[in-house]
Amino acid sequence: MEKLSKSVQPFLEQCSRCGACVEQCHHLQAYAYESPADIAAALTSGDLDESLTNIVLECSLCGLCHQVCPEELDFKQLVLDARCAFVASGITDSQRYRFLWVDYDWCLFSIFRDTYGLDDCYAHLMKASCDVLFFPGCMLLMQGHRIVESVCQWLAKSGDSVAMLTECCGAPLLQMGQPDRFKSYTETLWRTIKAKGPRQIVTACPTCHAQLVEGCDSADHIEIISLYQLMAESGLRAKVLVAEAQRCMTHAQTGTDRLERMSECCSRITS
Ligand code: SF4
Ligand code: SF4
Repeated sequence: MEKLSKSVQPFLEQCSRCGACVEQCHHLQAYAYESPADIAAALTSGDLDESLTNIVLECSLCGLCHQVCPEELDFKQLVLDARCAFVASGITDSQRYRFLWVDYDWCLFSIFRDTYGLDDCYAHLMKASCDVLFFPGCMLLMQGHRIVESVCQWLAKSGDSVAMLTECCGAPLLQMGQPDRFKSYTETLWRTIKAKGPRQIVTACPTCHAQLVEGCDSADHIEIISLYQLMAESGLRAKVLVAEAQRCMTHAQTGTDRLERMSECCSRITS
């Protein structure tokens, strides 16, 4: 709770209750609190009712509130610190999120990959070393496994050796209020990545991208770039994709997309 006490202070002292964040967020609008300052005050009082715990546990961590705040207050970080405090004090039952424990052999994502034989399907892309490492993230693997193969083929057109890593970036552990497990998981993940010796990691998911950028050691000289930036810079445009695949492509802006400039690149691709 000590870290949480520090996190609430900026909200108690600087939040002007201007409402800019509440105006943008359906989640904040769904509860009776007028502003994050009131939520911070309620967290400080320790009087946790169901609506207060739900505000913390149901936030999507998109970060839009931070982007629109004139005081640059980061409510997402307050939520993360509150989740850690909830786990540490037993307010949150960690077992409730067992299916997202990505540091265990079996979790939702590994069960999905195993059920549909994806690791066998991609065995030819699990190279021991590479120039470019494609990191599709759990959701793209689950939702578009044919797309990831096409992406690797497209990346390899430049003549680079391309490998793929089907691991999770570890973000669910952090988002569940388990920072120590997140640290341990990502240390192992980075050992795996570095052993392959890539000069570039290509990401598809905004959350993976943010986590990898945050965790990358500049001394390793690994460039982390989003697939959408590569596509936009290569001149690839949606009309070409639609003509070839007979499909339509859409994208929606979310807070993390905007932070990582992915939406801007998607707009260029679909322009
Ligand atoms: S991080 Fe996103 S969902 Fe959470 S309070 Fe901010 S805007 Fe709302
Ligand atoms: S936008 Fe910032 S200052 Fe305005 S109510 Fe939200 S947290 Fe407070």
